[in-house]
Amino acid sequence: MFNSKILKVMPYVLGALIAVLIIVMIIVKTGGKQESDATELKSENTVSGDTVSESTASESTLSNDNEADETKQSSGQVAALFSDTSGMPDELPEPDDGAVSQELPDKGTPDTGTTEPAPVDDGAAEGDSSEADDMTTPEPTPTPTPIPVQIEFEAKDDYIETKNDVNLRIGPSTDTDVFANLKTGKRLKRTGYNEKWTRIVYDGTECYIYTPLVTGVFDEPTGDGNAAGSASTGTATLTQGVGTPNGHIICIDPGHQTNGNNEKEPLGPGSSEMKAKVSSGTSGNTTGHPEYKLNLTVSLKLRDELVARGYTVVMTRETNDVNISNAERAKIAADAGAQAFIRIHANSATDTGVNGVETICMTNENEFNAELYSSSRKLSDSVLNHVVSSTGAKKRYVWETDTMTGINWAEGPVTILEMGYMSNKDEEEKLLDDNYQNKIVLGIADGIDEFFK
Ligand SMILES: [Zn+2]
Repeated sequence: MFNSKILKVMPYVLGALIAVLIIVMIIVKTGGKQESDATELKSENTVSGDTVSESTASESTLSNDNEADETKQSSGQVAALFSDTSGMPDELPEPDDGAVSQELPDKGTPDTGTTEPAPVDDGAAEGDSSEADDMTTPEPTPTPTPIPVQIEFEAKDDYIETKNDVNLRIGPSTDTDVFANLKTGKRLKRTGYNEKWTRIVYDGTECYIYTPLVTGVFDEPTGDGNAAGSASTGTATLTQGVGTPNGHIICIDPGHQTNGNNEKEPLGPGSSEMKAKVSSGTSGNTTGHPEYKLNLTVSLKLRDELVARGYTVVMTRETNDVNISNAERAKIAADAGAQAFIRIHANSATDTGVNGVETICMTNENEFNAELYSSSRKLSDSVLNHVVSSTGAKKRYVWETDTMTGINWAEGPVTILEMGYMSNKDEEEKLLDDNYQNKIVLGIADGIDEFFK
């Protein structure tokens, strides 16, 4: 009875035991799976924390070798940076802040300047916004490891010159502050280069110039550029006398420039009266030839003539596409210690019959530099007389006026020569004639010679 009773119950007991076993096995199995999921999750977090900006697709490959992939990523981003550069227009003006600032958003890190870690941050910002699940993991704390993405600078130890009116910036980005503004032809020590930014030393400080605005490579700190240490108003091109130096320094200012600058500047030192910085000048009635070009053509000839006569010559500009105000031009002459400041212009009048030569200086009551009146008047007379006799043009007069910014800021004898009227058909034709220009130049040089006698 007992045995048969046990036998009867046995299947139920076994069934219960098997059921318990199955439940235990299920529990054990489920526990293990949860654990392995946790491990995977943790490792993913590590990966995404380290690489910040990687996409989901590349995350799966990252677990093997984070460093390698990171390196790859950085070079990829650097390459992207530089391919952006090559896509930029070669125009001289600095790029608008837009393009570069996206790549280089850190405007607050100018001090060392050799590295610009922006691309990593940049990538993070873009990647995170499109991947919501990254947001559930804690924001990776800044790691002490160096950021692998940098703006690379090829080391340099030479000199370059500015190709145009340029901004020196405290960092390699148009987002950074301007340290100084330099004019064309300023020679500077170069310490680093890449396609987009050139690192230079100015006034003992490392600064950056947009590379397309840099020209020439030189071994010497001085040369045809400027005298070292000249003022921030810009740079004159200095040409030493080829003939026996006569000890005189002349500053030639070819009037105007390609584009005028309507910003205002004081009419004279300390003046509250403001005047446009510089205009683009007149142009020939018949040919349309711009005055600024004619002025430069004659000025360069004058430079060569004066140099041949032993003068040291400082030019306020030797190209047309500059941005130098009239006060700045006077400052260039003053900084150079010019003993005569010759400003070359051409005239125009609504009456097309008007023609002839005149010169301009301040009145003897000028509120800024009346002490220069007699020497400036002498220079003006001398240049006028000699240009008239060398060209045969009509002699008009010396116009005394205190309305010229570039005269009021002068610190030495100054004259403006109005070579003739571009509004007069005959005179325009002469002014554009090579031989006639040579006559003007000889006249000016003779006038200067006489001034120093
Ligand atoms: Zn003019």
